[in-house]
Amino acid sequence: MSSRPPDVGTLAGQLEARLPSGRVRRQVPFASLTTYRLGGPIAVLAEVHDDDELLEVARITRDLRPRLLVIGRGSNLLVADRGFDGLALVLTGDFESVEVSEGLVLAGSATPLPVLARRSAALGRTGLEFFVGIPGSVGGAVAMNAGGHGHDTDEVLVRAWTTDLLGDAELVERPLESLALGYRDSSLRRSEVVVAAEFGVSVDDPVACQARIEEIVRWRRTHQPGGANAGSVFRNPDGDSAGRLIDACGLKGLRIGGALVSGKHANFIQAEAGATAADLRALVFEVQRRVLDQTGIRLEPELRMVGFEETSEGEPVRR
Ligand SMILES: Cc1cc2nc3c(=O)[nH]c(=O)nc-3n(C[C@H](O)[C@H](O)[C@H](O)COP(=O)(O)OP(=O)(O)OC[C@H]3O[C@@H](n4cnc5c(N)ncnc54)[C@H](O)[C@@H]3O)c2cc1C
Repeated sequence: MSSRPPDVGTLAGQLEARLPSGRVRRQVPFASLTTYRLGGPIAVLAEVHDDDELLEVARITRDLRPRLLVIGRGSNLLVADRGFDGLALVLTGDFESVEVSEGLVLAGSATPLPVLARRSAALGRTGLEFFVGIPGSVGGAVAMNAGGHGHDTDEVLVRAWTTDLLGDAELVERPLESLALGYRDSSLRRSEVVVAAEFGVSVDDPVACQARIEEIVRWRRTHQPGGANAGSVFRNPDGDSAGRLIDACGLKGLRIGGALVSGKHANFIQAEAGATAADLRALVFEVQRRVLDQTGIRLEPELRMVGFEETSEGEPVRR
């Protein structure tokens, strides 16, 4: 059975009544919340600062069942130019935290990954250095099983705490296995919010940890473009690299409107001045089509695209 999404005024009104003043905003440009700096208005944006506020939101969403989007640092998201007509949730305040003990690091989901990496390294804990080059949040890393430099989140994650915005408005401890982390994916549904995560680390010399951090930062500066992008657009196919395939097909520099396949790293698509989300999406599918035509390999996007296609139930096709 499908239900109609709630009226935006009702949703915003209930949130405003139950959250501290200033936490709920309407018609917020998505561009301000993403590394692509693109995307139309979010109908309702709620910022929550602690568990109580989050659970308050969950009690409202459980009853009203709006379309939902959890936003971390927006470093893997492309939202349509027409925007998102549901509730987007941003975690901040108490959700930015790092607590380091001997073999574990507990981090709030809003903590930027580079902060997690640097704090842990400075206190002589090794294992999380690879996060320094990934400009996402702890929650985004769990949802995406983010990784790089030979390591993925599922190698270091011990457990996470989540709440389901369409569920019982409670925090649930989730062992790693229950999250089914795979290659740049997890089993988390759109309504599930990562609140915190605990990582396993080992004790090491802070100077050695710091040196590994600096090496990763140097590598990134040399090999990846700056500007507005969302990192790798496509997942690597088995045994190959998406960037290598795109480059081999001669697609570096391919452009649609303000969207451009980077000349520095072929799996990055840059948003230049004047780009629209439609340009970006069109270029993603043009690259996919050309690589398929020339190599027979179908590249699958890693980038999460929101608000472009809806099923008959009104739910986005992908998470
Ligand atoms: C320059 C650059 C380099 C990058 N390099 C890498 C790399 O090396 N490896 C890599 O894996 N990725 C890389 N990325 C992509 C991106 O940083 C990761 O996918 C990151 O994990 C996304 O985190 P985020 O907080 O920005 O999530 P967002 O982009 O905000 O969201 C991504 C997905 O995670 C979900 N999500 C976010 N927060 C939560 C939460 N608290 N609870 C539940 N779901 C949540 C969102 O709903 C969405 O589905 C790069 C991006 C850029 C811009």
